[in-house]
Amino acid sequence: MEIESLLQFDREHLWHPYTSTTKPLPVYPVASAAGVRITLADGRELIDGMSSWWCAIHGYAHPVLDRAVHEQIGRMAHIMFGGFTHEPAVELARLLVALTPAPLDKVFLCDSGSVSVEVALKMALQYQQALGRPEKHRILTVRGGYHGDTFQAMSVCDPVTGMHTLFERALTQQIFAPRPTCRFDGVWDERDLAAMEQLLAAHHHEVAAVIIEPIVQGAGGMWFYHPDYLRGLRRLCDQYDVLLIFDEIATGFGRTGLLFGADHAGVSPDIMCVGKAITGGYLTLAATLATTELATTISNGPPGVFMHGPTFMGNPLACHVACASIRLLQSTPWQERVVAIARQLTTELAPASDLPAVADVRVLGAIGVIETKTPVDMAVLQRFFVEQGVWIRPFGRLLYLMPPFIIRPDELTQLTTALVRAAALH
Ligand SMILES: *Cc1c(COP(=O)(O)O)cnc(C)c1O
Repeated sequence: MEIESLLQFDREHLWHPYTSTTKPLPVYPVASAAGVRITLADGRELIDGMSSWWCAIHGYAHPVLDRAVHEQIGRMAHIMFGGFTHEPAVELARLLVALTPAPLDKVFLCDSGSVSVEVALKMALQYQQALGRPEKHRILTVRGGYHGDTFQAMSVCDPVTGMHTLFERALTQQIFAPRPTCRFDGVWDERDLAAMEQLLAAHHHEVAAVIIEPIVQGAGGMWFYHPDYLRGLRRLCDQYDVLLIFDEIATGFGRTGLLFGADHAGVSPDIMCVGKAITGGYLTLAATLATTELATTISNGPPGVFMHGPTFMGNPLACHVACASIRLLQSTPWQERVVAIARQLTTELAPASDLPAVADVRVLGAIGVIETKTPVDMAVLQRFFVEQGVWIRPFGRLLYLMPPFIIRPDELTQLTTALVRAAALH
């Protein structure tokens, strides 16, 4: 197809994420991607700084993952999970149970991150129901969070940036504590948990669970907070008999330097959501893990089953690629790579701190953030980055990088150079 006619049809018929159909920002036709390089239809090459939104940790068209897709396609791409099971699902569950914090050993496979959050929230409500406490049906969370775009997930996203005003009448009213303020690498101050403790004291009789993104608040502000917050939160949830849900969809599989965000604090949630990088960015898949105690309680209460079952639950193709991606991660020195990326990001983004438009510069694992004082102009910057030969997609006041772990130092320098330049232009 001619590029022009492709673009025209796209403009006339396709919705892109969070876009207008009447005034869409330009989109770039992409022809292929391999390693950390994205090739546009006009032949230009861009270095990927986004990992297709936290997913493509091994880069694109990785031979091991490509092979896994071909292997599984030959056997079966899909089969219903009701009444059947298969090796890809069992193998994936085995890996997830082994890698996640100890008490999480029941796995619910679902098709996207938002759905895994819906599943987690339903598990929490069904658990409280089963214990004869239907009044515990609300969810407590912190501001600045992002948990997905479906309705219950939206209800626990930040109430200001998270579409609450728009859907107010249709959204469940949840309870919000301030976002954690102590920096990941700063000094811990016990007062950071005071508001959370007050809310639990006041509302625990009606709260089923607390949901939070451990260590890194992603799309809600790319904010890294102190691990002691999670340790304190675990203690408070136990004290007030409230479940704790970790949304590890963005943090899972090494992005922060440890396998999961929870590992920084050494605490285990009662329910955990994983997604995004689980298939190395190949296919849509997520999982919700829970403790045996929670699963048993749900199964002993009416109606005796957990009430969820997506059509594509346990999709063998996605599960098989996920197994290959997780094993690939385990067989590569990913932790050294992430440490090296963190070190380079820290050095190369540091000069941005002196720029007048910059409010903060922070790095954790393979995530580098330049926060500006005023919102950036996405339309202008998108074009600027493509001209610089890099793929970086800022939002709000955030210019940030989360490259594939396989990126080389010289490629990463191209990304950091473009990012600092953009901050200087702003
Ligand atoms: C992306 C994300 C989600 C939603 O996942 P989708 O696959 O886009 O539905 C939920 N929680 C967090 C923390 C995320 O980063």
